[in-house]
Order: sequence, then structure tokens, then C-alpha cells
Amino acid sequence: MDVPESSEMPIDFDRGLLSDRIYDLVRAMIKDSTLKPGEQVVESQLARRLSVSQAPVREALKRLTHDGLVTHIRHHGSFVTEFSKREADDARIGRMALEGMAARVAHGRIDDTTRARLTAIVDSMHDAAERHDIAAFRETDFEFHRAVIEASGNVYLPRMWDILEPSLRSMHVLSDPGYDGDWRVVAETHRGLIASLDGGDPDEASDLFVAHAMGLATHPEHPIGPAMNRAIAAARAE
Ligand SMILES: [Zn+2]
Repeated sequence: MDVPESSEMPIDFDRGLLSDRIYDLVRAMIKDSTLKPGEQVVESQLARRLSVSQAPVREALKRLTHDGLVTHIRHHGSFVTEFSKREADDARIGRMALEGMAARVAHGRIDDTTRARLTAIVDSMHDAAERHDIAAFRETDFEFHRAVIEASGNVYLPRMWDILEPSLRSMHVLSDPGYDGDWRVVAETHRGLIASLDGGDPDEASDLFVAHAMGLATHPEHPIGPAMNRAIAAARAE
């Protein structure tokens, strides 16, 4: 391969780093709903707000558009992506397939570090439940499910999760704020999910994660009990 001695297009590393940071920042603003679905993202306003020039903001927005978090409409500008009910339903189905697969692959290969991390996330869920901080609960919920997908060791599964995550967030598929049950039970359910990755067999772990993704309530004392299996069977028969 010929490498030119002097590049005609010098790479501006500083700007590259800056746009990475802006990307992370705006992504976080979309995730925590500081920027809401449908809201316009104005390049010049954002640049002013962050005290940077427009070029790195433009680059960051291009990346977010590529990720699907921002939608660019010609002659109108950039907007935080809104997802239709259909897209969110499709994302939910994608999530079931993805999590079922990830649990199957991760089963029996959770090391101590990962187990400690998952357990710490469940503890954080309990803290959030005690404080009635649903936003924090949701963040830990997303963190938990992504951590399990990472635990599969498959390099593509987390990337697939990243594609689904914006839709799942927009429809409150995880940690629905309208849920009026006991959030501590929801938190504890995740301990059952961790246990399923260590015990039983891969099919059971997979079934449990699918059931959880379907929103079926699981009882923490019977994480992989017969009642759960009946619930899954009933849901499948629908
Ligand atoms: Zn969950």
C-alpha cells in the first residue's frame, strides 16, 4: 500500500477528541431526556452552550444521526429521533431474541468479576427503588441488561443492543414509570436472572431473559421455578 509522505488532508486530532466529547455529552442528554424525542437540536445553539465552534458539533451530530439517535430532515434541521409504536414493538421483539441468545451464550461462563458487577448493579437498583428514583432505576436496568449482553463475549451482540436501545428508551420498555408495583421486587428479579446464568441450563436462562423482556412478572423466590415455566408456556400459547 502506498502511503503518501505528506498527507494532503491533515488530521485534526484536537478537533477529533472534542467532537468525541460532544458526542458523548449529547448522547447522554438524549439518554436522560434532557433532550426529548422530537426536540430540535440546533448546531449553533449547542456550540454556544458548550462554548465550542460549530464544526465539532456538526461532526458529533453526524455520528448521532448514523446511530439513529438524531434524525436529520432536509431544510428543517436535526431532531432527537422519535420512534413510532411499530418501531418500538419491533425493538421489543428484537430485544427478546437478542437477550435470549445472549443469556444462552453467557450461561455457565460468568466469571467472578462479572458476577460482582451484576450484583453491584442490582444493589444500585435497590438503592434507586428505596429513593423512588425511577430515572436512576432505569439507568441501572439498562446497565444490567447491557452487562449480560457483554458477558456473552460475542463482539456483535452489544452492538446490536446499541441499535435497539434508543427505541427501547423512547417507549419506556425498560422500567416503565407507569408501573405501580414494588420496584424492589423488580430489582430482586434481576438477582434471579443472575442466578439463572449460573445454574440450570442454557435453555432455562434464555427463557427467563425472554420472559423478563416480555414484561412477565417473575417472583424472586422462584427465579427458575415451575410457575415461571408455566408463565412462559402460557405466554407462548397466546
Ligand atoms: Zn430488567
